[in-house]
Amino acid sequence: MKNITVLKGDGIGPEICKEVVRILETLNLDLNFELHEVGEACYEKTGALIPQSVFDSIEKNKIVLKAPITTPIGKGFKSLNVQLRNKYDLYANIRPAKSMPNVKTPFDNIDIITFRENTEDLYIGEETMIDENTVHAIKLITRGASERIIRAAFDYAVKNNRKKVTCVHKANILKLSDGMFLNIFNEIKGDYPQIEATDMIVDNTCMQLVMRPEQFDIMVMPNLYGDIVSDLTSGLIGGLGLLPSSNLGDDFALFEAVHGSAPDIAGQNKANPTALLLAACLMLDYLGYETEATKIRTAIDDVLIENKVRTADLGGSSSTTEFSDAIIAKL
Ligand code: NAD
Repeated sequence: MKNITVLKGDGIGPEICKEVVRILETLNLDLNFELHEVGEACYEKTGALIPQSVFDSIEKNKIVLKAPITTPIGKGFKSLNVQLRNKYDLYANIRPAKSMPNVKTPFDNIDIITFRENTEDLYIGEETMIDENTVHAIKLITRGASERIIRAAFDYAVKNNRKKVTCVHKANILKLSDGMFLNIFNEIKGDYPQIEATDMIVDNTCMQLVMRPEQFDIMVMPNLYGDIVSDLTSGLIGGLGLLPSSNLGDDFALFEAVHGSAPDIAGQNKANPTALLLAACLMLDYLGYETEATKIRTAIDDVLIENKVRTADLGGSSSTTEFSDAIIAKL
């Protein structure tokens, strides 16, 4: 029996997490889900945002399914998401955006995977008040972290029969930091002659993504651009409720939705659980349960095609629970 650490999160986290675990349990796999509270709810009860028992569980199980956690803006604690990514060296944040059937957007055939470097760039959170009107924020780019994310993107392309990798950067302005990222990309691409390799400046990339997204296949980029550009790709397929992610390191793996805790709809049984469910599918793929992951993906497609049950973000009025019931009925 393989144990999975499940973090229930904040806001809509506990609602979607409960449903995703319920769906996974109907498959009767050799998996045991250890549910833990983290974040605000946990802080109120225990005084810790992530209690030691959660770290112990992660270190024992090495596989995490995580619902979104709230990060207060401009004050308070450092993002728990960033802390977890750093502590477990989850350096590759992989975000596949794929068109879903019967979800109306201007594009039908999006299939773009963002590889976001997950451990450095401005996300090291080092900001210094120089004087009361001046702040310095440090953008850290290292050769080691750049090499491993770029190689991860190319290796994935080869393994999954993808055709092209685009490096996204701002090396025209950030000549040293992004310049080094781009130089490393240009060094590494020679090891993968079967993959088309190209690069694009991040602002142009955003425009190209909404004009001609079919030119993109796999994209690799530093942390901040990856955060922003992958939200954009979620918009191309119908919104944040649909985009999952894997956070992979050499020893640990964490799977989550790309979206946040959606405080505006929390507690209303309205959230779309699809992104977290697709993240659970990425976890099943990772664990070797590809057939079961495909079953869930097919069930999601079937429910969307049938169009009887649909959450509010996709123009319907069904609840989180009703959507999950429909998936379970298909399974
Ligand atoms: P958000 O992703 O929570 O919400 C943005 C918009 O998308 C909202 O209108 C929300 O209702 C909608 N939305 C998001 N997920 C949805 C779903 N599953 N179904 C239907 N609608 C959905 O972004 P935000 O409001 O900027 O952030 C809220 C909090 O979440 C912040 O504290 C932020 O730091 C945190 N956050 C956490 C993670 C994470 O845990 N990985 C990621 C992003 C943001």
